[in-house]
Amino acid sequence: MSEGEFDIIDRYFKRLNGLESGVVIGIGDDCAILDIPAGHQLAVTTDTLVSGVHFFEDVDPYRLGYKALAVNLSDLAAMGATAKWASLAITLPDVNEPWLAEFCRGFFELADKYQVQLVGGDTTKGPLSITVSAKGIVPTGQALTRSHAQVDDVICVSGYLGDGALGLAAKLSDTKIVADQQPFIDALELTEPRLTLGQQLIDHASSCIDLSDGLSQDLMHILKKSDRHAQLHLEHLPLSEAILTEIDSGHLSLSEAWQYAVTGGDDYELLFTISKHKLASLRMRLSEQGLSLNCFEIGVILDPNNSPLTGERLGFTHLQQPVTLKKTGWDHFK
Ligand SMILES: [Mg+2]
Repeated sequence: MSEGEFDIIDRYFKRLNGLESGVVIGIGDDCAILDIPAGHQLAVTTDTLVSGVHFFEDVDPYRLGYKALAVNLSDLAAMGATAKWASLAITLPDVNEPWLAEFCRGFFELADKYQVQLVGGDTTKGPLSITVSAKGIVPTGQALTRSHAQVDDVICVSGYLGDGALGLAAKLSDTKIVADQQPFIDALELTEPRLTLGQQLIDHASSCIDLSDGLSQDLMHILKKSDRHAQLHLEHLPLSEAILTEIDSGHLSLSEAWQYAVTGGDDYELLFTISKHKLASLRMRLSEQGLSLNCFEIGVILDPNNSPLTGERLGFTHLQQPVTLKKTGWDHFK
């Protein structure tokens, strides 16, 4: 790109928000220099979104800017980190000022909400692609990981499941799979990173992951890392008003909704394991702090040496009866 074009882009990304929040040197030198507070460790994550692969080419630039940061902040939340800084590498086919302005509006609205400062980046010309790297801090040795789920822990999720996957399916499908697709597309494109809950889970949860690839796939990461089995109770899967409305009006069956909830991706909720008594103390702490955050109980962690499951780490029940998940649906409901 020409020098002039870089100037234009610089204008959008270099904000006059001063040097604060541990930023010794921000945008404008070869590197950013950041101060990590004593007693903390740095948590770093990176995600790339490529046009035509991770988002539709005609995506609303506001929502793209928002989501590019949101998926990174969701990873920080899953480790219990406090989000602090981000860098952004953006490849653009051309300099489209209205598009850039909207992209930045989405990115910075979310950044400001969680006091995340943009500390660097890179701009190149080519097919549209966005890479964000987010950095956070976590008290030393206390990051939440995928590897310490304990036998008899409750499996909890921070919000409704399946809406994002339904939004994607609605966008990809030629036929109408829901009566009103807007709430599902909103869920897909405007996910809320669960940073506040993630920080509260430190000292309480035994393991945690954010749901990007779907409940069963992401839970399997915890089960493998922790060497555990688990059972999920279908009747306890939290379904949104939007999904319940589609079920009531006959556009979606309950078993289809469960299938989206279990195998669909893009929920960006936190999935965590926690002992019964720590869950009680977490709920008390949340209510003392006036935080109305969801912790839906959806299943239980099992001992692999004493498990009713045969040949699989993850099983499903409906009203205490085992059900089998098939790629195309639930045996139980055929
Ligand atoms: Mg993740």
